[in-house]
Amino acid sequence: MIPSGAAKLAGVLGWPVEHSLSPRLHGHWLERYGIDGAYLPLPVRPADFTAAVKGLVAAGFRGFNVTLPHKEAAYALCDALDDSARRIAAVNTIVVEEGRLLGRNSDAFGFAENLRAGCPTWRAAAGPALLLGAGGAARAVVAALLDLGVPELRVANRTEARAASLAETFGGALRVVDWQERAAACAGLNLLVNTTSLGLAGQPPLDLDLAALPPETLVTDIVYKPLQTPLLVEATARGNPTVDGLGMLLHQARPGFEAWFGVAPEVDETLRAFVLSA
Ligand code: NAP
Repeated sequence: MIPSGAAKLAGVLGWPVEHSLSPRLHGHWLERYGIDGAYLPLPVRPADFTAAVKGLVAAGFRGFNVTLPHKEAAYALCDALDDSARRIAAVNTIVVEEGRLLGRNSDAFGFAENLRAGCPTWRAAAGPALLLGAGGAARAVVAALLDLGVPELRVANRTEARAASLAETFGGALRVVDWQERAAACAGLNLLVNTTSLGLAGQPPLDLDLAALPPETLVTDIVYKPLQTPLLVEATARGNPTVDGLGMLLHQARPGFEAWFGVAPEVDETLRAFVLSA
C-alpha cells in the first residue's frame, strides 16, 4: 500500500547502503501485512551519524536498523542498551521510545533462529563447535552459541589476537585454536561455522580441508552471497547437513519490524524468494 501522511517510519542507516536488502525485506512485510508504513535506505556518512539520527527522530521515525560502519557509533549514542547489545558491544536495531534511543542487537537472535529453522534436529549441547573468524559478526555468533549451550567453542582466526580477545570477553567455553590448525580442529565437531568474509562473492574461498569433519556435523556459513558458498557446496557434496546464511539476515529483522510496525512478521519461503530475486 502507498504510505499515507501518517505512515509509521523506519529505515536502515549505512554508508554505503545501496547494497542493503533490508528495505526490500521490510517492504515485503509492510505490503504483506497491509501496514501504513515505510522503511527507507538512509545513506549517512560516518561524520553525520549522530546528527542524522537526531534529525530523523525529530521527523517522527520510530527506529532504525544500523549497518556498517555505524554499529559501534550507535552503541555509543543510545540512551539504553539491551543485554544482547551490551554483550556484543554493537547495536544493529534502534527503537525510539518517547525520544529515547533504545539500542538492541538482534544478530545473535537471527543466527540462532536460522539454525533452529534450518536444522530443527540440531542440538547445541551435543558437542563442540568450531567458529572461523573473529570479526564483528563473530561476536554475535559466539553470544548465540553460548546461549544455546554449546559445551566447547573452538575459535580460529587469521589474526589470533582477535580470537584471544573474543575468548577473554566471553570466557568459559571458548578455546583459541591456531589458524593453521583449523583443519585438525574439525575432528569431533557438532557444528562448523564460517564467519570470515572468505567465500563472499569477489573474495577467495575459505581454504579448509574437511577430511577430519564427521559426516553428520552441521555446517553453516553466515556469508549469503552466494547463497551456496564454496564451503557449503563442499559440505553438501560430502553429505553434511548445511544451513545457509540468508536466514540470519531475515530473522534478525523480526524484532525491529515488530517494535516499529506492531506486527510479529514471519520468515518463510515466499520472503526468501522475494529477497533473493533482488
Ligand atoms: P569483519 O569484522 O571485517 O571480519 C572479517 C573476518 O574475516 C575476520 O575474522 C578476518 O580475519 C576474516 N578474514 C578476512 N579476510 C581473510 C583472509 N584472507 N584470510 C583469513 N581470514 C580472513 O566482518 P564481519 O562484519 O564480521 O562480517 C563477516 C562476514 O559475515 C561478511 O562477509 C558479511 O557479509 C557476513 N555477515 C552476514 C550476516 C548475516 O546476516 N548473514 C551478518 C553479518 C555479517 P582477521 O581478523 O585476521 O582480519
